Amino acid sequence: MRRVPAWLPAALGAVVMAAAGSLALRWHSGAAGEAALAPPAAPAVPARERREASGEAPVVFRAGFAMGSFVRITAAGPGADRAAAAALQELDRLDSLLDRFYPGSAVAAVNAQAGRARVPVPQEVAQLVELALKIAERTGGAFDPTVGPLVDAWGFGSEFERRRPARPPEQAAIERARRLVNYRDVKVERRDGEAWVGLARPGMVLDLGAIAQGYGAERAAAVLRAHGVKSALVDVGGEIVAIGTRPSGPQGANRTAGSGPWRVGVRHPRFQDRLVATVLLEDRAAATSGDYERCFEYQGSRFGHVIHPFTGWPARGLVSVTVIHRSATVADALATAVMVLGPEKGETIIRSWPGAEAILVDEHLNVRQVKGP
Ligand code: ADP
Ligand code: MG
Repeated sequence: MRRVPAWLPAALGAVVMAAAGSLALRWHSGAAGEAALAPPAAPAVPARERREASGEAPVVFRAGFAMGSFVRITAAGPGADRAAAAALQELDRLDSLLDRFYPGSAVAAVNAQAGRARVPVPQEVAQLVELALKIAERTGGAFDPTVGPLVDAWGFGSEFERRRPARPPEQAAIERARRLVNYRDVKVERRDGEAWVGLARPGMVLDLGAIAQGYGAERAAAVLRAHGVKSALVDVGGEIVAIGTRPSGPQGANRTAGSGPWRVGVRHPRFQDRLVATVLLEDRAAATSGDYERCFEYQGSRFGHVIHPFTGWPARGLVSVTVIHRSATVADALATAVMVLGPEKGETIIRSWPGAEAILVDEHLNVRQVKGP
């Protein structure tokens, strides 16, 4: 896949995967609450297919890199290998549409014309932007896909891995960026099979970083399903979609029992080797936002990459939010929104969101589980 960062050796190996530790959610094979996190069978690139004796479904594992994160696909059944390869290709395609740092992407084109002109985009992009705007509206602007200028002011943009910010930006820079953030200034038009997206003011920046991984996971899962896959787990940077149940057998996540829901461990935000919860997923998705991956510390405080669009400062109050929902796209955006809203308002919105569940970890490391109607 394209855009593997320079620090990542060409061949993705188990060692790199483990060392990077970049996945908030990890699927695992143990019983609920088990602390030891055994990574899945060592990722093999190209995919390794193992057909176990006794007629069990072949299980393939493929790893890649897309949307700024590791991607892991586990799929079982006939044709799983080709299906997984196609799913990775789909993520590559979406990267080249949705990544604002990807030269020539639809989102980059929209940003380049901010304040000047609306830009023709594929229907798919317009639809995703529309959904993002709807979620922005429903979350009172806590999720805001125009947060780009603030993300850049804080140094969480494309340069982050190479040049970590040493301290918060000047308040004046935060104020300047903040004035450019408002999802109401995004215009989407769709007519006769064509679509456009425009930003009303110069300097505005569309940033789909808080929803694209979820959408990518959902699309990758759709590709697997279209290939006839009935059992799979897609993981795009911690945004996870489960198709069906896990397969039984040696690679099927549990050596003794038969099939059952996929088990996904929610990583403890402060202790790498601990879990705060185990989520059971069957044809559902889980997405996690936290303050512990893309972040920096300054004078004893931690500043994460989820930014409060109103204050212009990184979200406070919650250190990790996992949202479970039928749609990975919604789960991803909602997890970011809840991080911004904080423990009380965040809990309120989950309780009112049909089909949503969430695991919230606050700054005192209290864990709470909440459920929508
Ligand atoms: P992760 O990438 O760890 O899953 P998120 O889904 O929360 O985390 O996405 C964080 C990214 O979303 C940031 O890097 C930034 O690009 C963007 N972002 C930050 N704050 C917001 C916000 N309030 N609303 C929408 N997008 C945001
Ligand atoms: Mg998100």
